[in-house]
Amino acid sequence: MEILRVENLTKVYGKGETAVTALDNVSFSVEKGEFVAIVGPSGSGKSTLLHILGGVDFPTSGKVYIDGTDIYSLDRSRLAIFRRRQIGLIYQFYNLIPVLDVEENIMLPLLLDGRKEDKARLNELLTTLGLKDRAKHLPNQLSGGQQQRVAIGRALITNPALILADEPTGNLDSKNSAEIIELLKLYNQKYNQTLIIVTHDERIALQASRIISLEDGRIVSDEVIRP
Ligand code: ADP
Ligand code: ADP
Repeated sequence: MEILRVENLTKVYGKGETAVTALDNVSFSVEKGEFVAIVGPSGSGKSTLLHILGGVDFPTSGKVYIDGTDIYSLDRSRLAIFRRRQIGLIYQFYNLIPVLDVEENIMLPLLLDGRKEDKARLNELLTTLGLKDRAKHLPNQLSGGQQQRVAIGRALITNPALILADEPTGNLDSKNSAEIIELLKLYNQKYNQTLIIVTHDERIALQASRIISLEDGRIVSDEVIRP
């Protein structure tokens, strides 16, 4: 089942002499349950692509369909709702809310959506992510690896169509990086959670099921490395 389709995506930043084409007519699709690594040199358009897939940066032209919805045909408020329910974003620097504890950070997407707390889901996530004894701690009381595990919980709480991660291990040492990747892989393999990671770390890319390489805003290779 196709969960993501990108058609002729182009993104141009700026105008006139200073215009930069960050994405140049990019098209691809992703099936539910794939684990895709997006790689490429610095400036090749990886972050721009991820942000457009995540509904947080508008394309100049082209379409993004997530689970059949043409996301940029939605008005602002509908896009915000869609994003909250169907897209889990994970950043390099965690982006947790400093005044909310672990539990509250994870629950936030549900609360913003006006939905009830899902205690069963929360407890399952806290256990799997190894955060049971940190539920009432604030982000600044946690190590980097723990903060990123909270961000994974926040991304997964709504059971979204897509998890998008932008250099999720970029700020972590190798032991913590490996743990984060193992957790993302667990949800990918056990729950068929579709996962797209931007990384410049080849060891991480090689754990994906498919690697898409960008250069100068274009796809230069797209290879399935395991079924
Ligand atoms: P990567 O993530 O692969 O390093 P980016 O998507 O960040 O690449 O950037 C792609 C290109 O777009 C680069 O040339 C970068 O300088 C440019 N770019 C990115 N963001 C902006 C912006 N907000 N304004 C202008 N140019 C930008
Ligand atoms: P790591 O093993 O990921 O490098 P750290 O050495 O940073 O972890 O932290 C070890 C433990 O100390 C963690 O369980 C973390 O929750 C706790 N800790 C780290 N920083 C703080 C802090 N500022 N306040 C309270 N506890 C902290």
